[in-house]
Amino acid sequence: MCPSPYYSTGDPAADGGPDHYREGVLTPVSYPAYPAPSARALELYDAMVAFVREEVLPAEASYDAFRAAAAPGDHTVPPVIEELKAKARERGLWNLFLPSESGLSQLEYAPIAELSGWSNELAPEAINCQAPDTGNMELLHLLGTEEQKRQWLEPLLAGEIRSAFAMTEPAVASSDATNIETRMVRDGDEYVITGRKWWISGAADPRCRVLIVMGKTDPTAATHRQQSMLVVPVDTPGVDIQRSLPVFGRQDQHGHCVVEFTDVRVPVTAVIGEEGGGFAAAQARLGPGRIHHVMRALGAGERALAMMVKRAQTRSAFGGPLADQSAVRERIAESRIELEQARALCHRAAYTVDAEGNKAARHLIAAAKVAVPRAVLSVIDRAIQLHGGAGVTDATVLSTLYGWHRAMRIFDGPDEAHLTTLARAELTREPLFDLPETVFSQFG
Ligand SMILES: Cc1cc2nc3c(=O)[nH]c(=O)nc-3n(C[C@H](O)[C@H](O)[C@H](O)COP(=O)(O)OP(=O)(O)OC[C@H]3O[C@@H](n4cnc5c(N)ncnc54)[C@H](O)[C@@H]3O)c2cc1C
Repeated sequence: MCPSPYYSTGDPAADGGPDHYREGVLTPVSYPAYPAPSARALELYDAMVAFVREEVLPAEASYDAFRAAAAPGDHTVPPVIEELKAKARERGLWNLFLPSESGLSQLEYAPIAELSGWSNELAPEAINCQAPDTGNMELLHLLGTEEQKRQWLEPLLAGEIRSAFAMTEPAVASSDATNIETRMVRDGDEYVITGRKWWISGAADPRCRVLIVMGKTDPTAATHRQQSMLVVPVDTPGVDIQRSLPVFGRQDQHGHCVVEFTDVRVPVTAVIGEEGGGFAAAQARLGPGRIHHVMRALGAGERALAMMVKRAQTRSAFGGPLADQSAVRERIAESRIELEQARALCHRAAYTVDAEGNKAARHLIAAAKVAVPRAVLSVIDRAIQLHGGAGVTDATVLSTLYGWHRAMRIFDGPDEAHLTTLARAELTREPLFDLPETVFSQFG
C-alpha cells in the first residue's frame, strides 16, 4: 500500500520515514510520512483559531488607531498588546515555538504559527512567539549559561522584556556574516565592543532590555572562528540606539535601528557558547528563525487570498461582480495553488527539523525561505490589484503586508544566499540514476 503522504501509519517500515531524507540534501524521491498531530496540538490549534477570531482581529482597529495617533518615530507599545498577551496566556497559548516549553513539534507548531501570521503585528507577540525574541530565546536555551538563562531567558519566556539581535552592519555586505567588522577586544575579564550596526529589529521597543551582538573576537583565527556573540544589556554605557529605519516608508512599532557601540564593556561571562563560536551560533539561531518567519508568512498569504475573494464577490464592474471575470477567477485559483505548494515545502522542512534536526533540514529551510515569501508576495500583489486604489494605500492591511514580505526576501539572508546554498547541494549530489550518455549526445 502506498503510504499516506501526510500521516504515519505508526509503522516506520510502512511509512518510509526519516531514512528517505539523506542528510542535508533534498531528495527528489521520497514518501513523507508525517506523524499525526497530537491531541494537544489539535486542541491548541482550535484554541488559536478561536483566539484570532475572538480577540486578535477585533483588536486590530485599536492597535492601528493608537499607532496612527502616535507621532512618527514614536515606538510606544499600544496597550492592546499587553492585554492580548494576558488573554493568550489564560488560553494556554504561550511560547508555542519552543518544543521544550510547548511540547509541540515544529510540524505541529507550523499551522498555529500560520494562524498568527494572519495578524502579523499582533498575534505572534500576543502568544510570545515573535521575532526576533524567539530566535534569541532559542539561542539562550541552547547555548546560554545558567546565569544568562536566569537573567535573560526567564523574563523573555515570561514576556516581561524584549530583545534584539545585532549582526548586520551598514559598512559591509552582511549577507556574508564573515564580513562583520564589529570588534570585541578582550581586556582582562572584559570584552570591549566597538562597531556600528543597523536594521536591529526590536531595539526601539521600550521593553527591549538586551541585545545579542555578533562581532569579531579574533580576526586572525580561521574564517569561521573569528566571530563571537555577546549578551549586552541595552543600558550598558556606550550603547547608543539611534534612529529606526522605515520599511517602505513605514515605521514598525518595535523599530529597526541603527545601533552604535563605543567602547562598550561587558564581562567575559557575556559570551554565548564559546569565544569563536559566533558563526556556528548564528546558524543555530537563524535556522528555526527562518522557518518560523515562513510559517507566519503563509498566514499572511491566506489573509490576502481571503481578502481577494471577498473583494471579488462584493465589488462590481462592467455589469457584474469581479468574481464573474475569468481573469479574476484565474488569479484566485493561482493563488490557492501557490499557497498550497509553499505550505507543502514549509511543512516538509518543519518535519525534517523534527526528524533529523536543523542541520539536516538546512536546505529545505533555505528552499522554503525563498519559495514561501515569493508565493505570498505574488498573492498579496494580486490582492492589491483587485482592491484598485485602496490596495496601495493604508486603507487595508495589504500594503503593510507587501512591504514586510518583500523585506523578508532580504532579512535572515537574501534569496541569493539561500539559492547559492541550494545550488551547491544540487551540484554535489549523487544523481539518482546513472543516465545513459545517449540522453546527452543524441543531437550531436
Ligand atoms: C526589515 C528588516 C529587518 C532586519 N532585522 C535584522 C535584525 O534584527 N538583526 C540583524 O542583524 N539584521 C537584520 N536585518 C538585516 C538583514 O539580515 C540584512 O539586510 C541581510 O542579511 C542582507 O545583508 P545586507 O543588507 O548587508 O546586504 P548585502 O550583503 O550587501 O547584499 C546585498 C544584495 O547582494 C545580493 N547578494 C548577496 N549575496 C549574494 C550571492 N551569494 N549571490 C548573488 N547575489 C548576492 C543580494 O541581492 C543582496 O540583497 C534586517 C533587514 C530588514 C530589511
